[in-house]
Amino acid sequence: MTDVVVVGGGIIGLTAAVRLLERGAGVTVWSPDDPAGTVSEVAAAVWYPTRTTFDPRVLDWATTTYREFRRQAREGVPGVLVRETRNLERGGATGQPWWAPAVGRVRYLDPGPPWTREVRFDAPLVEMGVYLPWLRERVLSLGGKVVRRRVDRLEEALLEAPVVVNATGLAAGALCGDADVHPVRGQIVLVANPGVFTSVRDESSPSTYVHPRTRDVVLGGTYEENDWSLTPDPAIRDAILERCLALVPELAGAPVLGEKVGLRPARHGGPRVEAEKWPGGTVVHAYGHGGAGMTLSWGCADEVALLAT
Ligand SMILES: Cc1cc2nc3c(=O)[nH]c(=O)nc-3n(C[C@H](O)[C@H](O)[C@H](O)COP(=O)(O)OP(=O)(O)OC[C@H]3O[C@@H](n4cnc5c(N)ncnc54)[C@H](O)[C@@H]3O)c2cc1C
Repeated sequence: MTDVVVVGGGIIGLTAAVRLLERGAGVTVWSPDDPAGTVSEVAAAVWYPTRTTFDPRVLDWATTTYREFRRQAREGVPGVLVRETRNLERGGATGQPWWAPAVGRVRYLDPGPPWTREVRFDAPLVEMGVYLPWLRERVLSLGGKVVRRRVDRLEEALLEAPVVVNATGLAAGALCGDADVHPVRGQIVLVANPGVFTSVRDESSPSTYVHPRTRDVVLGGTYEENDWSLTPDPAIRDAILERCLALVPELAGAPVLGEKVGLRPARHGGPRVEAEKWPGGTVVHAYGHGGAGMTLSWGCADEVALLAT
């Protein structure tokens, strides 16, 4: 029996489904796309609350997620790594970042001009191409179902279960009439990993990041509000390569393996994680995670499971 239909099979839907199943609910996930077809698969997927401002709930989600990925890395869950991370700042900030309590040990260094401070900490990094299929298998092994299905209206799911989790990312804007949902385009370049292990992020505008995975390195990035284009822009690719090579010269000569574009499901006001009564049942919304869906995933999943059960 299905107690809950989770609509959406990205990182938010799949983590919510796992937590619901662990609490004993019967769960079916509906998604028209394989994990490989979701925005979640495009993510650099490094723990960091990108463009997210302080909110006690967000800090709580980020802290829970940080701990969960560290635990999964220790246990050898496929695709979960931990990388030392260097955040290079230019703004002259002196206090600790609002998210620092989530990560435990943070060091502050002087990297010299043009940066004013380096914030160094260890961060989980998830190889989504491996991790999302693992999560899907986890849903199945806990007794859940995953069905290929697109909805035009969330009411279709309420016909099949009394509780529906709305984890449809960018599509949530149309599905529940939320005008605050909007795309933030991100383009990345993948190069072969020449042997680098440290993540580096320069938070100037446009932000530049270098995130080494097992075999490749994710180079970024862009943050283009309300841009719906999914076509890689060659000029942007060249600019990303130039900025990343300047940041990490060891990347010189690394073969380019590919490039990707994803539309971050952003929302003015931050993620929406709340239950709402609809005719026919309860909809638990879980969308609008913008550039921090991996970073907030397990924390949100706990809250979704509580709201839904
Ligand atoms: C370039 C880039 C880099 C990023 N880097 C990071 C990072 O380093 N760290 C981080 O935390 N985040 C990062 N993100 C953000 C992260 O990718 C998102 O926040 C996250 O993937 C959102 O997950 P989601 O499950 O809400 O959405 P999605 O992954 O988009 O999943 C939505 C799901 O809903 C389904 N769906 C859509 N419409 C319907 C419908 N009508 N009926 C049924 N199902 C439907 C889709 O098929 C899909 O399964 C990055 C994003 C981009 C683009």
